[in-house]
Parts: sequence; structure tokens; C-alpha cells
Amino acid sequence: MPELPEVEVTRLSFADRIAGARIVSARLGKPLRWPLGCAPGLLAGRVVRGVRRRGKYLLLDLDEGLLLVHLGMSGSLSFTQAPPPAGAHDHFDLVTTRGVLRLNDPRRFGAVVHARAETAPEAVKLLGRLGVEPLGEDFDAQAFHAGLQRRHAPVKQVLLAGDLVVGVGNIYASEALFLAGIRPTTRASRISLERATRLHAAVRDVLARAVRKGGSTLRDFSNAQGESGYFQLEANVYDRAGQPCRVCESLVRRIVQGQRATYYCTRCQR
Ligand SMILES: [Zn+2]
Repeated sequence: MPELPEVEVTRLSFADRIAGARIVSARLGKPLRWPLGCAPGLLAGRVVRGVRRRGKYLLLDLDEGLLLVHLGMSGSLSFTQAPPPAGAHDHFDLVTTRGVLRLNDPRRFGAVVHARAETAPEAVKLLGRLGVEPLGEDFDAQAFHAGLQRRHAPVKQVLLAGDLVVGVGNIYASEALFLAGIRPTTRASRISLERATRLHAAVRDVLARAVRKGGSTLRDFSNAQGESGYFQLEANVYDRAGQPCRVCESLVRRIVQGQRATYYCTRCQR
């Protein structure tokens, strides 16, 4: 599943090239998770001003309204000058004067949604409950600690919930907790300011590194230049059950929390 770093890498791969492009037409394939919300013909003539990211949504700002793109479980975007004819899994094409933005999504949990404005109900419905951006300036250690104090669930699940800080997926939550030396089962409300500050830094570090490396382990991901494949994140604990911890050589343990696998070191994480 594309995580925040992959979505950010996707954004970086075409944002500069599509900015300023005029939309010629839009083509819909099979239904995606949510409908477009307008007749595709209405997009013709609009200009793409730029591409932002909010959580795992890409926001294509148009001169009127915006398009919200979500990659779902298996979606990927390409932005190319002359793409081949749409294949069985290509469910959205945005034909512009600079190239064709294409969503390929075999499982069709992704979506492209038109909104009249970011404050319009159709956008608020999708974006309104997202927590702060982990890589943004609003993600502050003190506020993060205060948010943890109000939550009694295990810290790993609080990270995944996305309402405190958005876009920290399963891999990155496990890795950040390792770097911070915090056991994933610890109640969020019991984490001290000092430990919360370490976790705050670890979340930023892990995500920023993954963005730099071009995203992590997605099988189905290919970026907007059409390159598939990833730079594998050098995971400390994720998917390393039974292998020695890279720090202390204790065996990495796997547990299940909220139906998601969690990996941690019993010695390094308390
Ligand atoms: Zn260890």
C-alpha cells in the first residue's frame, strides 16, 4: 500500500512538470473507490496550478477547484508525454498540454475526486479529520506529547490512527518506535515528554529518510516517471521477526496489534 513517503515521492516526480498545464480532456475507466463528482468534460480548459500533498492525498490545484487523488491499496500515477493506449487497470487519464497523468490501479481502492474548493463539503469529507503533517512545521513535539497524553490506546495504534499525526503507516510506526526506544504496546498517555520528543524526532527522521530514498517496499508502486521498484528501507525491526536486533542482537519480536503486525526489540524498546 502506498504510504506517505511514496505519495510524496510521486508528487515530487511530476509536480513541477504538470504545473501550468491546461487540461484537454479527462477519461474515466472502471469505477474507483469514489466517483469523480463532476462530468469529466467540465475539467477541460482548466489549468493545473500545482500539486500539494495532504496525508496520502495528492491535491491538484486547478484555476477553479481541485482534484483529490488517492492511490488506495495499489494505485500508481504516471505522467508521460505519449502513454500507450489505456490498459485494463488504467482507470483515469488526465490529458493535459504537458502530458497525460494516468492512474493505474488494479484493485481500484484509489480515487480521483473533484472538489469545488478545499473547504467544500466534498473535500472536507476526505481531508477534514486528518492530523497534522509529520514533515510539516505544525508537527510540534510539545503538542504531540499533549495529544499522546489524551489517548490511552497503545502508542503504535495511536500513530496509525492518523488523527494525531497523519500518514505514519505500519512500517514507519514500527521503525520510529524502535528509534525512540519505546515499546509499541506502551499506553500513549504514559509516555513522558522526553520520550515523546524522541518519538517525534524519530517519526520525522524515518519518513524523511524514506522520502529521500524514494519510498520503501511497495510491490505495486511505480512513480510518475513510470519507474517501478523501490529502494528498500533499511529496516531495523519491520519484517525482521526472529532476526537479531541491529543494535543489541536480541531477536526481533513480532506481535499483532489491531490486526496489524508490529515488530520490536524487547531489549531496546521499553
Ligand atoms: Zn535491540
